[in-house]
Amino acid sequence: MTARLIDGTATAKLVRAEVAEEVARLKRHGCEPGLAVVLVGEDPASQVYVRNKDRAATEAGIRVETLRFPARVPQAELEAAVERLNADAGVHGILVQLPLPKGLDDTAVVHAISPEKDVDGLHRANVGSLWRGEDAPRPCTPAGCLELCDRYGVELEGARALIIGRSQLVGKPLAALLLERNATVTVAHSRTRDLPGLCREADLLVAAVGRPCLVQAGWVRPGACVLDVGINRGPDGKLCGDVDFESVKEVAGLITPVPGGVGPMTIALLLRNTMRAAARAAQHAELGKG
Ligand code: NAD
Repeated sequence: MTARLIDGTATAKLVRAEVAEEVARLKRHGCEPGLAVVLVGEDPASQVYVRNKDRAATEAGIRVETLRFPARVPQAELEAAVERLNADAGVHGILVQLPLPKGLDDTAVVHAISPEKDVDGLHRANVGSLWRGEDAPRPCTPAGCLELCDRYGVELEGARALIIGRSQLVGKPLAALLLERNATVTVAHSRTRDLPGLCREADLLVAAVGRPCLVQAGWVRPGACVLDVGINRGPDGKLCGDVDFESVKEVAGLITPVPGGVGPMTIALLLRNTMRAAARAAQHAELGKG
C-alpha cells in the first residue's frame, strides 16, 4: 500500500487565502492587522524564517514590521522594545523569533509579550488557557497539525495518538489540542521505553524530535496517519524530517512529506492567529465605544 500524501503547501495556501479574505473584511471596517517580528542576531536559519513570515504576512494584507537587534542586545532593552509593541494599538501580534542568541532569556522575553498579542501562543497565560480549553491563541505548529488532520478527514475522536517529543513548542501543546478533540494521547520522549512498540499502537503518529529517519516502517501501524514535524539536514545536505519517508509511505495511510508538510502550515497559522488577534482588538474597541 502507498500512503496518500498530505500536501501542506497546498493546504497552507488555502488557509492563507481564507486569512487574506478576513483581513480584507477587517480593513473595510477600519482595522489593518499588524504583526511585529523581533529578530535578534544573525542566525541564518532565523533570518530565512523571518523573511518567509514577512512575505506571507504581506501577501495576506497584514502589515509587518521587523525589529532587528544585534546578538549582544541587553535583555532589558529587548523587553523594553516588547513593552513598546504591547502599547502600540497598530500592532496586534508580536512574534519573537526563537531561539534567542546565548545569554538572552527566551522565557522572560516571551512573558513580556502581552498575552492578547502572543500570536505564537507561548505565553504562560495562553498555555494555561490551552490546557483549560479556553479561547486563546494556539501555538502555530501544533494548530497546523490539527488543521491538516481536519482537512484530510483524519478521525481524532477516540483515536490513539502518539506524539514523539515533549517540547513547549510542539509536543506538549499538541497533546492538549488532541485531548481537546477526544483523542487518547501518549507523549513519548528521549527516556521512553519501547518507542517502536508504542508507535505501532498509534492511529495518529506525530514525530517532533529533530532526528533524521528516527521513525522506521516497522514502527508504523498499517493505515496510520503520520505527521512529520521534524526539520533536519540529512547526510546528503538535503532537508528531511524525523520519519524515514520512503519506507514509511509504503505502510502508512496518510503521510506528510518534508519539506512541504507541516512546515508551511506553521506560517499559515501564524497569519490566522494575527488576523484573529486583530479581530478581537477591533471587537473590543467597538464594545468600548458602545
Ligand atoms: P526540542 O529539541 O525542543 O524537543 C525534542 C524532543 O524530542 C524532546 O522532548 C526529547 O525528549 C525528544 N527526543 C529526543 N531524542 C529522542 C529519541 N531518540 N526518542 C524519542 N524522543 C526523543 O525540539 P522541538 O522544538 O519540538 O522541534 C522538534 C523538531 O521539529 C525539530 O527538528 C525542529 O526543527 C522541528 N520543528 C518544526 C516546525 C515546523 O514548522 N515544521 C516547528 C517547530 C519545530
